[in-house]
Amino acid sequence: MSRKPELVVFDLDYTLWPFWVDTHVDPPFRKTSDGTVVDQTGRLIRLYKDVPQVLAEIHKQGILIAAASRTGEVKGANQLLQLFSLDHYFSQKEIYPGCKVNHFQRIQQRSGIPFQKMLFFDDERRNITDVSRLGVTCVLVQDGMSLKILKEALEMFPQ
Ligand SMILES: [Mg+2]
Repeated sequence: MSRKPELVVFDLDYTLWPFWVDTHVDPPFRKTSDGTVVDQTGRLIRLYKDVPQVLAEIHKQGILIAAASRTGEVKGANQLLQLFSLDHYFSQKEIYPGCKVNHFQRIQQRSGIPFQKMLFFDDERRNITDVSRLGVTCVLVQDGMSLKILKEALEMFPQ
């Protein structure tokens, strides 16, 4: 029996990037000639530094990846995933306001993967509390997603 998760789900704001996409920055976003991503006002937009490697590592291990975000800035969030060349990693994206239980029910229905085989990273305790009740292994991320957090979570899975 494999102890690996079949699906890893990420929150977006303060998990993959250090801001709320609906309030702290000004979409639309664009890529400049030097390859950096900026918002409408020219402000530099960045990911937490390990994020591209984190997604690449999960993908390399043959584990599916999904996003679950409660932001109302759906277009901006999708645009950032594309501009940072992360979009191709996600087999499923559930991005809209509401309780995260709804996002996970949709993920479960579409993927057919049981909650017990999912690993979830989020920076907000209320989301961790809600989603844990479904049987998903949840990890509270304090200062953004990192390779260290990923490694520890994969080693302790399932909780
Ligand atoms: Mg968040």
